[in-house]
Order: sequence, then structure tokens, then C-alpha cells
Amino acid sequence: PDAATDGLIQALPDTLASKIAAGEVVQRPANALKELIENALDAGAGSVDVVLKRAGSELIQVTDDGCGMGPADAVASFGRHATSKLRRFEDLERLRTLGFRGEALASIASVAQVELKTRRRGDEAAVCVRVDGGDLEDVTPCAAPVGTCVAVKNLFFNVPARRAFLKSPATEFKHLVEAFQALALSHPSVAFSLVHDDNEVWRLPASDGPDALADRLDALAGGGLVGKLVEVEETTSYLSVSGLVASPDRARKSRGEQYVFINGRFVKSRQLDHAVAGAYGALLPERQHALYALFLDVDPRHVDVNVHPTKTEVKFDDDRGVYSFVKAVVKRSLAEGGLGLAFDPRA
Ligand code: ADP
Ligand code: MG
Repeated sequence: PDAATDGLIQALPDTLASKIAAGEVVQRPANALKELIENALDAGAGSVDVVLKRAGSELIQVTDDGCGMGPADAVASFGRHATSKLRRFEDLERLRTLGFRGEALASIASVAQVELKTRRRGDEAAVCVRVDGGDLEDVTPCAAPVGTCVAVKNLFFNVPARRAFLKSPATEFKHLVEAFQALALSHPSVAFSLVHDDNEVWRLPASDGPDALADRLDALAGGGLVGKLVEVEETTSYLSVSGLVASPDRARKSRGEQYVFINGRFVKSRQLDHAVAGAYGALLPERQHALYALFLDVDPRHVDVNVHPTKTEVKFDDDRGVYSFVKAVVKRSLAEGGLGLAFDPRA
């Protein structure tokens, strides 16, 4: 037996494995922002405050007033596959949390300088954990309110190739905004704020009433939606659709105001966008895109929302059924929504 050609296989060191995994979980600042906000929401936050610098390449900071962590968990949260949300395989089907892979913090911390401050209700002090490129730097007691603040600095500082491949700050900021908007829209009962390079972009109060979604959509869209939104609401045994669609005169040439959520997750679906556009039909000016926020709920067995953290694609087992249902429901809502739209009955 030749010893020189055996015993070559070894497990990767954790920090290296995380750095490789980070290539999938964090391709750009917006992915990191989404993971941090989802963690805040999973922690039961009532408010989520985001601070960005230089389109996230310098700083992505998310502060929440959620449950916080004890000192041991604060350190453990950076471990690979470290999660408090999943214990057994069977739990996967009943998950109510946004995260469950326990990969986000480990991945982000392996390609950035991260400072996490956290405190549980009832704890005397907060704990501050600093991780630099995956290496634990220090753990110190500190002063901080109940909740968690995660600051991600200099993303990809140790992966120059990836840093070089970041798009222009304007493009990266657009992706950050999309991630923020999707989570803010699907959680109107949570207050959100976003500050970029010291400018306050949004301050969105928490709202619980029947107009919560409309108010949030109006605020995110920059106002002017009052009286221009039509409610959508329909349930069958297979699928339920609810949400808001805007009057066709609010359509825009550029995309970016089409929000579709399936079982609470933001998705991108050309097919569903096509179904909604079909419902507007000739009401929509040519080459313009309507504004809408639609929430589809379907038994998870009927849908493959690709659960990869950065993917937003989706596939139903009855794609065509969903397509025609969404189109019909939106069309009827528009016709009956009191906007005085003149529908061509033959269309
Ligand atoms: P996942 O969300 O998939 O569990 P993460 O890497 O995103 O994995 O987070 C790891 C763990 O750290 C979570 O399961 C949670 O227990 C804890 N955690 C992360 N962020 C927060 C936060 N903002 N508030 C409270 N706990 C958090
Ligand atoms: Mg998470």
C-alpha cells in the first residue's frame, strides 16, 4: 500500500467551507441585507432599522428590537449550520420562520467584518461579538438595548474577485431597495426605516388596520396611490390570492413595482406578471407595467418555491390553472373596483 497516495481527503476547515458557501448565499449586498432582515423578523421584531453606506459595500447594518440572544448563542450564531429554528427533518414542513439553514451569518461573516450586539429582555448587559473574515476576534460585554444589531462592514474585503464584480453603486442600491421593499411590504405590522449614506430614504410606521398594506404600498411607491388601489381577494381549495392592484394610469415604463409573494416569500414570476398584465389587457398603455402587490397562498405540496436563499423563482404543479385563476381574479377586481374602468367585454 502506498501511503503517499492515501489519506489525501480531508474535511475543509469551517472558515473555508463558509467562505465557499458564501459564494452562493451572498452574491451581492442585497442578499446579505435580506438575510439580516429575515433574522430580525424571525426574532419577532416590532421595528427594523437599516443603515447602508456606499450601496452596502461599506456598511449594511440592521437593528431590531426582537428577542435578542444570550452570550453563548451570540457566538454560536456564527457557526456553520447553526440555527435555532430547525431541530428535526420533520420540522421542515411546518416551518413558520423565514430562515432555517443556519448558513447566513456564517457565510456573511466569512466574507466581511461583522459586529453583532445583542441583548435579551431581562439580561443585565448586552454582548458584542466581532468576527473578521470568519475568525472570531472578541466577545465583550457592552451596552445596547434589547434586541440585536448586526453591522456588516466591507463586504467581500477578502474576496477581491467578488468585490470587483459588484455592479455600480446605483445598481447594487436598486437590488438593496428591492430586498428591503419586499420584506417591508410583506410585514406592514412591523415598522421599518432605511438610511443610505446619511439620507433617510424611508421611515415606515407599523400599521395593523385594514389599510395597512395600502398605506405601506403607498409609502414605498412614493405616494399618490390613495383612491387608485383595488383590492383583490379570492380563495379556492387550491389557492388563495389577496392583495392590491393599482389603477392602470399608475403604470410605469420601467419594471420594479410588481410584487408577488408566494406563501409569504417574494418571488419573481414572468408567468404571473404576464397573467396580471393580461387581466389589465388593453387598459394598460403599451409597454407599461402595472403596480401591484399580490399574495398567493398555496399548500406547499403544490409549489416548488426554489428554497435556495438567493433564488426567487417558482413552479406550481398546475401552472396553467394558477395563471388563469390569477388573471380572472385580477380582471374581476379591476372591473368591480370602482375605478370606472371601461373594459372591453369581448376581450
Ligand atoms: P437561520 O436564520 O437559518 O437560523 P442564520 O445564520 O441567519 O440562520 O442565523 C443563525 C441563528 O442566529 C438563528 O437561528 C437565530 O437563532 C440567531 N439569530 C440571528 N439573527 C438574529 C436576530 N436578529 N435576533 C435574534 N436571533 C438571531
Ligand atoms: Mg437567517
